[in-house]
Amino acid sequence: MSADTFAPMCFTPATTGRHWDGTPTTPRYRRALRVAADSPSRLLRIAQVGRCRDCGNRIDWHTTSNQQPVGLHPAELPTLIVPTTCRWHVTSGIAHPAGDGSRWCRITHRTLCPARTTPQELPPDLADLRRRLALHTRRLLDTGAFTPGEKPATESAATASCRPARPVVQLLYCRYLAAKPIEDIQCVAQTIRRTRCPHPVLTPGSAPGKWTLVPAAPTRRRQLVLPALDIAVYDLGRLSYSEQLRWRTQRCPLHAATSGAPDLALADWEPFDPLLHHQHVVTRLPGRGRHHGR
Ligand SMILES: [Zn+2]
Ligand SMILES: [Zn+2]
Repeated sequence: MSADTFAPMCFTPATTGRHWDGTPTTPRYRRALRVAADSPSRLLRIAQVGRCRDCGNRIDWHTTSNQQPVGLHPAELPTLIVPTTCRWHVTSGIAHPAGDGSRWCRITHRTLCPARTTPQELPPDLADLRRRLALHTRRLLDTGAFTPGEKPATESAATASCRPARPVVQLLYCRYLAAKPIEDIQCVAQTIRRTRCPHPVLTPGSAPGKWTLVPAAPTRRRQLVLPALDIAVYDLGRLSYSEQLRWRTQRCPLHAATSGAPDLALADWEPFDPLLHHQHVVTRLPGRGRHHGR
């Protein structure tokens, strides 16, 4: 096959370089969004919109400098009406628990959430804002657009099939509580269509982890935990470092190899604490088929 076969085809629109009235045109170049190499976060700010499970109001999710997710009220508020201890600001996609010296700041949704049973005492302007959020919740409830505390469908499906709905996973020498069953953990990367990658992290071609029963906590803490408890852990520690890193960054094999793709969601890992997360502890190995959970 000759090289001519692959001669590039150019579709540059014919242009005279002038508008109809003779003024010069300025060519517009499309700019692709890129993640800076020194960015502290790979998360695209624009996509992190969620809603509170308890009140249905909108939340903007950000990460803090220590990689913890924090839900902020979507609007900026005048700094004067927000107590100093409640102020947040966002810089380079990272949320910081303080004002930035400007006249505007952010506030956590948790501070304003009308569904909290023991709300903290708020200044009048913020109390008024919480009342408006409560009205919005009422409207959502009246129209059936929101059910408080509704769980994702995957959680109930997982429970029905005896898979741990929130498994404990061991990787990179740490234990994490996953947000979903292993098979449902989804890649967080953005595709070229600007949607979230639909592929799971556990793809058919990749090496799976192994369910094992291990002590709930290191020896020095064991006496503080439920007595001599062995828990089911999905162990990825035997995989290669790059594979464990792929799980930690929650990417499918394709996007693990594509370092330029930004993230459209936060990785769901939560550092596992046997005391804090005792309701998610499973003491039997998940089985297969009819023998699930026996
Ligand atoms: Zn809420
Ligand atoms: Zn992907």
